[in-house]
Amino acid sequence: MKKLLAVVLTLAMLLSLAACAKTEPQASETPAETPAATEAPATEPAAEPEPEPEAPKLTPAYSVEGFETVDADGNRITTGRDATAATAMATASKYEVSQVGAEIMQKGGNAVDAAVAMGFALGVCEPFTSGLGGGGLCTIHTASGENYFIDFREVAPAAATLDLYLDAEGKSNGGTVKGGLASGVPGEVAGMLYLLENYGSGKLTRQEVMEPAIRIATEGFTVSQYCANAIADAYEKALEFPEMQEVYWNELGLPYETGDVIVNPGLAKALQKIADEGRDGFYKGEIAQAVVDTLTKYGGVMTTEDLANYEVMVHEPVTGSYRGYQVISSPPPSSGGTHLIEILNILENFDVGALKINSADYIHLFAETFKLSYADRAQYMADTAFADVPLTGLTSKEYAKERAALIDLSVAKEPVDFGDPTLFEHTDTTHYSVADAEGNCVAITKTINYYFGSGVMVGGWGFMMNNQMDDFSTDPESVNKIEPGKKPLSSMSPTVVLKEDGSPFMVLGTPGGARIFASVAQVISRVIDHDIPLHDAICIPKIWNNGPKNNLQYEVALKGYEDYAVTDETLQTLVDMGHGEIKTAASGAVQAIEFLEDGSLYGTADPRQDGKAVGF
Ligand code: GLU
Repeated sequence: MKKLLAVVLTLAMLLSLAACAKTEPQASETPAETPAATEAPATEPAAEPEPEPEAPKLTPAYSVEGFETVDADGNRITTGRDATAATAMATASKYEVSQVGAEIMQKGGNAVDAAVAMGFALGVCEPFTSGLGGGGLCTIHTASGENYFIDFREVAPAAATLDLYLDAEGKSNGGTVKGGLASGVPGEVAGMLYLLENYGSGKLTRQEVMEPAIRIATEGFTVSQYCANAIADAYEKALEFPEMQEVYWNELGLPYETGDVIVNPGLAKALQKIADEGRDGFYKGEIAQAVVDTLTKYGGVMTTEDLANYEVMVHEPVTGSYRGYQVISSPPPSSGGTHLIEILNILENFDVGALKINSADYIHLFAETFKLSYADRAQYMADTAFADVPLTGLTSKEYAKERAALIDLSVAKEPVDFGDPTLFEHTDTTHYSVADAEGNCVAITKTINYYFGSGVMVGGWGFMMNNQMDDFSTDPESVNKIEPGKKPLSSMSPTVVLKEDGSPFMVLGTPGGARIFASVAQVISRVIDHDIPLHDAICIPKIWNNGPKNNLQYEVALKGYEDYAVTDETLQTLVDMGHGEIKTAASGAVQAIEFLEDGSLYGTADPRQDGKAVGF
């Protein structure tokens, strides 16, 4: 806190100095060759030194001119985020990245080519959520009707045994959160390249697909207010792991601010090396050695063998249905898709459409449904290579009927608490959705876990290492306990919803830690049960029950969505129903695409972050 205060004071001081400096004429305002300069009164002292020319302002690779995310009062702007187009659509939590996706598809690439280009680009211009040091999950629905699930989630290093993460009393020593031990072996590079090689159009080279990301790293991106806040919030992290300062602090040694342009030459070099050499450019040689050296410096145990051995996995996606629509989403190592389907299956037993969104009855039904689902998650969910997960049961309609019968519509129950799902609570990931002219749909959620991950930046190469080890439990009894070679339990739920006839309906997903699948369920239900337009379904405040207990949370309404706010009266009714202490909490940014009846594509980005859809 003290350090923060010190930096605020320093910042204020430097800002006032900078403001004084700015009152001096700018080089561009008084060019020597203008008549005004030559006509200067002769009485002026000739020896007056010329003002120092200011460094030219960097022009970022992609313009976000005119795209405002926050109004003058600090409210997130909910309009101007969507697009309707005839052919293809890309939507990410950064406008620049949606532009990248559209550009790649305009060049003849398919949705997968675009998704790979967008993935690399997001790592550059939204560096606090995902990047080369992280991993992710991808759901693909192809134009020919096949579904694939690509798992490039991080994996625990071979030497990462549980005891390394425990103190003398057997409690967590914090090693999963920051520093060298916190990182799983990153899967992002292998995943992106696997997608390109196996599902890309084959029309664009690796270099062509990676070029936008390299360009953004070289020429820079504009810092949004959201990004500036993330950098400022990571101030302590950057003090502890100074490599971070190389990229995210300016030449005065202060965090970059809104409107600044950040370049990352180290990351441009790393991306170029990957473009030139493929996955070996990252998992072997110089970069791999730098990853291991940096993690070792901060107490890590990852080896070059761990990196060289990293493998992408392809799984069957989990599938289910909701009121006739088909739902395709993530299997383990994510809990997301399974519990999304369990939630929707439970909700199907109720007339959700008859309940006013965010009324007490509505919130109660969702809260009780979430509790049942999170109780199952805590008990059963983990990497299926290490645990038997009853996937068929968890996603069956009959099982959901039994679970639904446990819900009392007037009283909040307190189901058995199997674990501590609060371990997974944060909103620090990124989701993007793409659809192309042929009808291929790609949903990708990817992450370095917390904002700026473990805090460890791989020096000279400009990327942050994840702290995905924190998605494990340090409880030796947990099915999701740390084990070498195991994947930590995720909640990421990249999802495709199909109509009854099998044609695509929606592509969606969100960050939000353990809230993810509960948020996705609410958006799907609002569109299907209440016929709410997709953008509104995303913007309307969401609720969450934080685990199997009565820990209800709700969002404060965004400006323009006050009609759907959870009112004081509703809160009182919920307390009377037994929901106990109710808190507010933010939810993650959903990026979604809908296939409209007239054949066009509607894309939208969540105003909670910096996204805007782009189509053509
Ligand atoms: N690491 C989390 C997961 O895999 C995602 C974190 C987040 O969304 O912020 O579920």
